[in-house]
Amino acid sequence: PELQNQIAAGEVVERPASVLKELAENSLDAGAESISIAIEQGGQGLIDIQDDGWGMAPDEMELALTRHATSKVTDFHELNTIRSFGFRGEALPSIASVSRMRISSIARGADTGAFIDVDAGRVTDRGPAALRAGTRIEIRDLFANVPARLKFLKAPTTETRRCQEAFFRLALTRLDVRMTLTVGGRKVYAFTPGQDISKRLCAAWPPAVTDGLIPFDHEQDGYRAHGVTGSPRAAQARADRLLFYVNNRPVTDKVLMRAVREAYSGRILTREYPQAVVFLEMPPEHVDANVHPAKTEVRFRDEHAVFSVIRRAILSALDHADA
Ligand code: ADP
Ligand code: MG
Repeated sequence: PELQNQIAAGEVVERPASVLKELAENSLDAGAESISIAIEQGGQGLIDIQDDGWGMAPDEMELALTRHATSKVTDFHELNTIRSFGFRGEALPSIASVSRMRISSIARGADTGAFIDVDAGRVTDRGPAALRAGTRIEIRDLFANVPARLKFLKAPTTETRRCQEAFFRLALTRLDVRMTLTVGGRKVYAFTPGQDISKRLCAAWPPAVTDGLIPFDHEQDGYRAHGVTGSPRAAQARADRLLFYVNNRPVTDKVLMRAVREAYSGRILTREYPQAVVFLEMPPEHVDANVHPAKTEVRFRDEHAVFSVIRRAILSALDHADA
């Protein structure tokens, strides 16, 4: 099973940023209202995440380290309709198999918490833990026992940037959750609950972009596209400020990208990209998020409808802003 976990690890967690994403999604799934994350050495040295979610009892912690022992799906057919992030029960065992991990947790309502130490998939220690609420997961020496993975990692500054991006992407989905990220002891993001999306965007995007953001919200054929989109004047020759979410889950997809660019055609140069954050809401059975374990790729039942709702949403926002 360790080998299986390590193989799965290659798919689910290819780098520190994917670990950060999986762990933060677990915290959100656990109902956390506050999540703080600290990383060291691009996440390879340390990823430390604390939440105030409903926590785990000691036996649940053991179970969480078992492959496919998710607490979130009871029926395979639920897979397609599930709205929580995690649904495979792969992340924790995978990460545990390629790092040194300590999980400390206290189940809501319990008197005492517990910790469990895992080294490359093997439990090395367990005992009581003093924490007041939720779960803390500390990951050290990520991929230290998988030289091939380690070699594939970029310089710490690059991995740090990816961690920041993953964090930021997720922070845009839950404006109601307090989220902080500390990098090498320096707080880079400190998001308070209840901020609107533009406020959070300001923390990472330059004023030239965030000043002209145009909100949009459009419904069509049972699909809804909403978010904010940048002024055509702020278009740039970089595509990394085009963020998409399907049912609040971060995704990367060419159809979505093309729909946005199409809406801007004639307003920006062909080598330019607009900025936008697009949330697409659709019936869960119209999207298959199960294409890849890392879960950022999706397959749509009706690509044309998806393309159309996004293009229309943004086009009418731009037309409105022009008028
Ligand atoms: P999945 O999220 O697909 O269920 P994971 O491997 O990511 O699988 O997590 C395994 C299980 O561990 C979860 O189903 C959940 O029960 C538990 N778990 C993980 N992280 C947390 C957390 N921060 N708070 C509470 N429970 C958690
Ligand atoms: Mg998960």
